[in-house]
Amino acid sequence: MSAYWCERAWLGDGVASGVRIDVAEGVITSVTAGEKPGGTVLSGMVVPGFANVHSHAFHRALRGRTHDDRGDFWSWRERMYAVAGRLEPDSYYRLARAVYAEMALAGYTGVAEFHYLHHPAGGGRYADPHEFSHALVAAAADAGIRLTLLDVCYLAGGVDQPTTGVQRRFDDGSAEAWAQRIESFFPASELVVPGAAIHSVRAVPADQLPAVVLGAGTRPLHVHVSEQPRENEECLARYGRTPTGLLAAAGALTPRTVAVHATHLTAADIADLTRCWVCLCPSTEADLGDGIGPARRLADAGIRLALGSDGQSVIDPWFEVRALELHERLASGARGRFSPPQLLAAATAHAASGWPEVGVIAPGRAADLVRVDTASVRTAGTHEAGILYAATASDVTDVMVAGRWIVRDRTHLGIGDVSAALDTEIGALWR
Ligand SMILES: [Zn+2]
Repeated sequence: MSAYWCERAWLGDGVASGVRIDVAEGVITSVTAGEKPGGTVLSGMVVPGFANVHSHAFHRALRGRTHDDRGDFWSWRERMYAVAGRLEPDSYYRLARAVYAEMALAGYTGVAEFHYLHHPAGGGRYADPHEFSHALVAAAADAGIRLTLLDVCYLAGGVDQPTTGVQRRFDDGSAEAWAQRIESFFPASELVVPGAAIHSVRAVPADQLPAVVLGAGTRPLHVHVSEQPRENEECLARYGRTPTGLLAAAGALTPRTVAVHATHLTAADIADLTRCWVCLCPSTEADLGDGIGPARRLADAGIRLALGSDGQSVIDPWFEVRALELHERLASGARGRFSPPQLLAAATAHAASGWPEVGVIAPGRAADLVRVDTASVRTAGTHEAGILYAATASDVTDVMVAGRWIVRDRTHLGIGDVSAALDTEIGALWR
């Protein structure tokens, strides 16, 4: 057993002082506040590990490379396809391990990877149909973070359009073929949950949706929903239903379902989503000009909220959680739309990724801990829960996943120079 003493720690609904946390075999065995220092002393504040519930690791290669000619969502997508066309399992492994290490340094202890790059460039199949999935599993294992590998079904280039070009790499041909393939995925790591995903109603025709839902079984099922108004317009024109309505009719909306973005919804859509999660990706939604999702209305309808870094224009859970509240303030003209405990719950919603035991500092829960510097130029003078409005990824000093330190003193213990690794791998992709 290991004992940690935290100057302050975020427990359930608030911040406590002098908190002793005992950990055995990756699990918190006891938590007591008001204790004298003992064991490993952690100054500053300790918060639960953050959950990145929506990620496309390779989009990190687009950061700072899609702004010079202005551009829109669809021109951004063209550049994203260019990178997707160049990646191979070995280069994706090296890029993803650096990206996941960047996430670890920021305080994320779990990532749900929305993974659709399945097949070789130029057609055909790899001898092992999970070549890319194994690369991502190895990358997450090296980075030391939990991975939910959401194997994405992607069958169409748009409503009533076949996949073309690089999209062929994403396409299994049918929902049945996709379902058969995911049945044979057995990750070689304990810190992996296999999951499933519908790319979107653009990429999976309505008649294929029930087979995807069946194939997903009891896995977490994630789906991009209503990110852009055009998606709604095309879906309404083709099927006479909204994307959410179409998913509801196909039986795709269950307590295990995570609707990603859910930016442009009707009142009926919100009613359909009440049993689901919604994962907002505020930095990406701002970067792509998607719009502001109805977060408060979703929460008021009883929908559980989660957050994701999605397009990786920013990898910073503190930024995302602040943006959840600040976007609401901009849209509503009012402050205090979410309380700090509500914000932290969204930022640590590992249950949305199939890890219900992670995300709270309490006995019986996983020992995923993040220490944040409360005396940096950004955080000095802040009061307790106000840390959510002040800290950035740069203020994270130490990160523990399942009882094991993966970041100490702002250094990734497994990978070391993460910025050099990112620079090398991203540079190689654009050469
Ligand atoms: Zn996405």
